[in-house]
Amino acid sequence: MSGEMGHTWRVWPVLLLLLLAVLLPTLGLLWFMNEAINSQRRAAEQEIAEAYRGQMSLARDGLKGVWEQSGIALDQAARERSGAALFEHCVRSGLADAVICFGEKGELTYPAAPAVPVARDKPRPPEWREAERSEERGRSAEAARIYEEIARSAVDPDLRARAWQAQARSLVRAGDGEAAVQLIVERLETPGYRAARDWQGRLISADAALLALQLMKNPSDRRRLPVARHLFRSLTDYRAGSLPAGQRLFLMREVRALGVPPEFAGFPTYEAEQLAARFMEAESKPVLDPDLRRTSLPDVWSQASPNGRVLALLRTQTVVSRSQMFLDRQMLSSGLRILISPPGGQVATANALLSAALASPLSGFSLALVTENQRSPGELSRRRTQVYVWVGFLMIVAMSVAALVAAGLLQRRLRLAQLRTDLVASVSHELRTPLASVRVLVDTLLSDTALDPGKTREYLALIAAENARLGRLIENFLAFSRIERRKYSLELASVEPGAIVADAVEAAGERFRAPDCVLEVAADPHLPRIWADSGAMVTVLVNLLDNAYKYSPGEKRIALRACSRNGAVCFEVEDHGVGIAPRERRRIFRKFYQADNRLSRSGGGCGLGLSIVEHIVRGHGGRTEVRGELGKGSVFTVTVPAES
Ligand code: ADP
Repeated sequence: MSGEMGHTWRVWPVLLLLLLAVLLPTLGLLWFMNEAINSQRRAAEQEIAEAYRGQMSLARDGLKGVWEQSGIALDQAARERSGAALFEHCVRSGLADAVICFGEKGELTYPAAPAVPVARDKPRPPEWREAERSEERGRSAEAARIYEEIARSAVDPDLRARAWQAQARSLVRAGDGEAAVQLIVERLETPGYRAARDWQGRLISADAALLALQLMKNPSDRRRLPVARHLFRSLTDYRAGSLPAGQRLFLMREVRALGVPPEFAGFPTYEAEQLAARFMEAESKPVLDPDLRRTSLPDVWSQASPNGRVLALLRTQTVVSRSQMFLDRQMLSSGLRILISPPGGQVATANALLSAALASPLSGFSLALVTENQRSPGELSRRRTQVYVWVGFLMIVAMSVAALVAAGLLQRRLRLAQLRTDLVASVSHELRTPLASVRVLVDTLLSDTALDPGKTREYLALIAAENARLGRLIENFLAFSRIERRKYSLELASVEPGAIVADAVEAAGERFRAPDCVLEVAADPHLPRIWADSGAMVTVLVNLLDNAYKYSPGEKRIALRACSRNGAVCFEVEDHGVGIAPRERRRIFRKFYQADNRLSRSGGGCGLGLSIVEHIVRGHGGRTEVRGELGKGSVFTVTVPAES
């Protein structure tokens, strides 16, 4: 008997097969589920699409009406007002993001280039020239005085206002900002000043108010608020005769940058003014097309009113949200929605149940009928994939666990069956030899008619030895069987190690006292007691002694020692026999394992002794070690903790 008899059954290939058997059907099932759900969804969507085709065309006509109506509303507004007032009305009532206004003859009325100088015709007094000369020579204080004089004697309010403006400018140049502020603040509410314009047609009071605000560095200056309020009123006043668009936008920008209180810097028409100005810069000759038309500004559309009085400027977002508002008012069953998307927009038609391109005035835009949860394309399929992955994962885990449990049970069954076969084979093999020897010896004695007392004694001694060997064998088989059935229990008591050694030597038998065997026993007389099952410990030592005897060919020199080491008691069995190869040192403790040497065969045994030793020693909380060299012998050491 050589090599390992147990563990021949390899569990991994079977496990792998089981896993494959789990994995493939699971994946197949998931794929099938996915396909089935997808095709069912497609069929349902097809049905819905058919049912809603009419609804889509209604939506298309409705939208056309909405945008045509919007153009008509612009013309309507233009009938009642014009220029700046029309601009303000259209923007503030939400008809457009900004508008360009035209007069009845098609001339641009807002935002227009600065108005034609209004007062070129009004002659300047001769002192004005003198003041200008002083300014040119850097004599600002003197210029300020002359301007003041002109203002005092002026009858025309425009001239007076211009003189004040020039005086304030000269005062600032002369380094007297405070006097300039004072001058402006005092004059602001003067009748006639508010409407006065400079040579270029700009409102003087608004420019002056900005100058005063810029000069008043101290934020807690009490005069700031009234000036800011005055300016705010001028800038948000779109009645006839108000600011030219260029000046308005410039002043709005400046005020926003000044840090005046937000109620005087939040201009409701600021964005619109900016958009209109940018548009006029980009397109000097606006195209009056009643269809929505892409302008040269990115993301901005224009739509002219039917009469050509107003050109509405609309951001893409405005077009989409106004259209969407109309579409959302249309009655659709819950979970369905018609979405509008701009040219090149985000609503993927691939995901829509139904889609349609829009005609004039929204050419380029398109409609898509989608289910509510498809609004963000891809999200639904992502969620579905997640669910599949989880279901698949859980199925695989559950089936793997089941497979593992089944494999474990199967392995245990096979191992037990294998063990039983091994044991039966070993028992019959091991019992046959001593029984055969005993039979031969007894037969010889019986056949001898005149029994020689010397020979008889010798034969009886041999029979006794075989008997003892049989006893030990059966003892080991019983111990092993109990261990395997988990029926082996230790009866622990306080024991003297010396007694165990003595009992083991006694049980080991006569053969250790034969002339070819030297057994040296050395037990320290002061050993601490141990907490042990003395019968089991004797079995351990007898097994080790038995092995030492078996694996020492020829002259046998064996030592059995007991000593105390680090609070534990060590039993050592040393022989000078065949020794054990280093790689065998762990394996020899396995059940039925026998190192491959011929002595294993000739000496008998079935590879159970050391596994029993290991089991008993572990049961005592101890450990078994082996050392030595191949061909020179081995030392087995059993260490058991001393009683505390
Ligand atoms: P066996 O019944 O074969 O002796 P054991 O479990 O007692 O079974 O020992 C297992 C194997 O360990 C043996 O077959 C033998 O090869 C090796 N062995 C045990 N003790 C010794 C020893 N003292 N010297 C050399 N080899 C040993």
